[in-house]
Formats: sequence, structure tokens, C-alpha cells
Amino acid sequence: MKAYYSDRHCDSFVEEEHLRDGCARLQLIFRTWIHFHPAGQYKEDDELWAVDDWTAEGRSRFKTRFAEVIREGFGDGAIWILHNQSGVRDVWCDVKIVHEEERSKAHMCVNALNNPTAIGSAGGYRSNCVRGGESLLGSVFSMNNPIDMSVTNGVVVGGLVSRTKPVSDAPAPVTFLQNVLLHEFGHYLGLRHFCDWAGEPNASEQYCANRTTYEQDDLMAVGNSIRSHHVNPFLSRLGKHEYVPRASCFGFVANDRQKRPWIGDPNWSWAQ
Ligand SMILES: [Zn+2]
Repeated sequence: MKAYYSDRHCDSFVEEEHLRDGCARLQLIFRTWIHFHPAGQYKEDDELWAVDDWTAEGRSRFKTRFAEVIREGFGDGAIWILHNQSGVRDVWCDVKIVHEEERSKAHMCVNALNNPTAIGSAGGYRSNCVRGGESLLGSVFSMNNPIDMSVTNGVVVGGLVSRTKPVSDAPAPVTFLQNVLLHEFGHYLGLRHFCDWAGEPNASEQYCANRTTYEQDDLMAVGNSIRSHHVNPFLSRLGKHEYVPRASCFGFVANDRQKRPWIGDPNWSWAQ
């Protein structure tokens, strides 16, 4: 049985034939269009950066790694939906990026910046996700389909970013690793910063500054840990399928069961 659902942000289906450990699969497919920003100047929030051109090989590597990072981070067994109902299978969550050549066919539009270098007072460029199309009108998805995410070649192809931060539960600062693309894609899924209640948008407090190691290590803070709350976008998506009565979704429990190494694991290697 397959039940498709499509909207501005993804296509999805629940597949009960394609089982993994006896669980059904909820697959989210993100049709993705990447704008490779040409060499020159890039302006964002009144700040300027100089960006390099892209080679054909560079574009290809960016697209491949973009899809791999997101699949390994959010899909492929990193997130499961478990419940106690007999007769209804548990669900393993999968994510797939499908690259589109035409912007009008895409759910998610990405601005790819190669090696942005500050001009004037601009600091280091920060990749970001604004999920821009949500309330505007225009494309095949009845939306304007502007850029949802701006990311650098460095965070997509380069991998983990290291940040050393003071914590409240240890005498010395702790070094956190994060895959920034996964963090930004988390925003695209609708996830907010782990401590977003604690400060203004993008203030350090929202990233759990000076709080515990556990809090800062969340993917939606400055770390790379996938946690139970990251299942929420999948739970809400499941509610759009008739896989189970919607009311019973409240009884679902997610855990961090992982079936294989993924990019968030210290032992991860691309060779696997
Ligand atoms: Zn963020």
C-alpha cells in the first residue's frame, strides 16, 4: 500500500511493502533546485560578500553531497516513530533529495555560495534557512517559490563545523561538532532552535549558550545530536496520510534508535 501526499514542502508516501525490521516506511521526497550563485558580489541583509565561480565538478560534488548529508542525517533509520498499537506497524523515517533542473518544479530552492569572502564590515558568512515560500503566491505549488536556504560550499562539502563553547555542567569548555546543512535543513522541516524561547532570533541564547552539554549538543543548537523532538515534522506529516487515525498520533513515541552509523556519529566515515 502506498499513499502519496504532496504540498509546497515535499512529496511523501507511506509504504508498507518496503519494510525495514518489520516497520513501514514514511518517505519524504524534497524536489530541490539549486541556484549556483555566479562569481561576483552577493548581498544579504545589507552586507556584501565576494563569491567564487563554480566549476562543473564543483556543482556536481555539491549536489551529490547535499543529498547524501540530508539522507544520512534525517533519513535512513536515524528517526523512527514507535507506538504501542497492535496491528499498526512502527515507522522508519526516510528522506530523499531529488534534484530538479527547473525551479518551478522544486519544493525547496537553495542558493549555493562558493567561498563567500567578506566585503566591508560583513563578517563570516552564516548559512541560513528562511523557508521563504510559505505564505507567498505564484508557482506550480501555488507559491512564489523563492529561495528557502542559502548555504556555502564549505558547509555542504566540507562537513562538520567545530565550535568550542563554555557549558554549565563541566569545568572546561566543550567542543561541539555540527553539520550545518543538517541544522539548516532542520529549519526547513520546521524545527526551531532548541532554546528558541531564551532569546531573540539567532541570539546565542537560542543556541543554548552557557547551558548544559546536553542542550548545546542538540542538532538545533550547536551540536549534531538527533533527538526525539526531531521526529515532530515526520509525525505531523504522518497525520496527512491515513496510515493511522489522526487522533492516535498523539500516542506515538519517537526514540533515537539508530540502525547504522550516520554523519552525526563520531565513527562515521564516507567509506561506509
Ligand atoms: Zn538555526
